[in-house]
Amino acid sequence: MIDMHSHFFPAVSREEAAAFDAQRAPWLAIRPNGVDGDIMLGERAFRPVYRALWDPDYRVDEMDRQGIATQIVCATPVMFADAWDTATAVDWSARMNDRALAFCAGHPTRLKALAQVPLQDLEKACAEALRAKRAGCVGVQIGNHLGDKDLDDEHLVDFLIHCAEQAIPVLVHPWDMMGGQRMKKWMLPWLVAMPAETQLSMLSLILSGAMERIPASLKICFAHGGGSFAYMLGRVDNAWRHRDIVRKDCPQLPSSYARRFHVDGIVFEPGALRLLVDVMGVERVMLGSDYPFPLGEQRIGALVLSADFLSDAQRQRITRDNATAFFGL
Ligand SMILES: [Zn+2]
Repeated sequence: MIDMHSHFFPAVSREEAAAFDAQRAPWLAIRPNGVDGDIMLGERAFRPVYRALWDPDYRVDEMDRQGIATQIVCATPVMFADAWDTATAVDWSARMNDRALAFCAGHPTRLKALAQVPLQDLEKACAEALRAKRAGCVGVQIGNHLGDKDLDDEHLVDFLIHCAEQAIPVLVHPWDMMGGQRMKKWMLPWLVAMPAETQLSMLSLILSGAMERIPASLKICFAHGGGSFAYMLGRVDNAWRHRDIVRKDCPQLPSSYARRFHVDGIVFEPGALRLLVDVMGVERVMLGSDYPFPLGEQRIGALVLSADFLSDAQRQRITRDNATAFFGL
């Protein structure tokens, strides 16, 4: 099986982070047992984590136990430097991409990396995506928005066109979630806002008409089953049919663009996976896990492997063949 959505965080020291940005550059505090740690922002513990996040040998042992042949690793979104000054973000992104490649280097067939880019500068983002690809990254991961700009922003659309032209696959990951003031408890930003963020990104590309500009060759995948997208696509089609302001920039029925997108299959429930496969097509759903975080699938692939509505051939597509084709592995 290939798991195409997993995260890493390199063992960045406090000093190394502070040399970039003492408040915003994340670093790793590993506890004396060597197994537990915290991602830190300055003095503040941002998230408890464990060794699989920073130790590739430990990770590959866990992959062996889970029957995962290959894992695509990408930055933990707190590593995105999109809101920093451009020069610092350029250096940081290159440093993190080199660390990602170093993370994979000891297990070249088991671990593959996605790059991050300094998205606030189109030219620099395109250059780093290309540099990282030549250095061995199999694609890029971007956050689903850049401050107040969604994926229909001209600059972000141009970045996606660059990725299409250079055959660089893109994973879009929700982050920096909306509604923070009203979602202070119970991980609500992860449970409510993250799926909405992803739906917002997909609809921004469709309803703005950006998908008419972006070459059909673009390989673009949205995390967490595309969030709320598949479940609410009928609502969007209905709005497009009955309100001219919805169809003003979007010449085709919104659902007709769904099959330009890939998604991972991290939806946890058989009924949700069935809907996702129906809406997106079995060729565009790929096994992902969000490993090694607690909100990910703990037994990677369990949902897909136990889905009795899928044939063996369809399960093989989702757990292996789709990712092989998407990333050109
Ligand atoms: Zn993730």
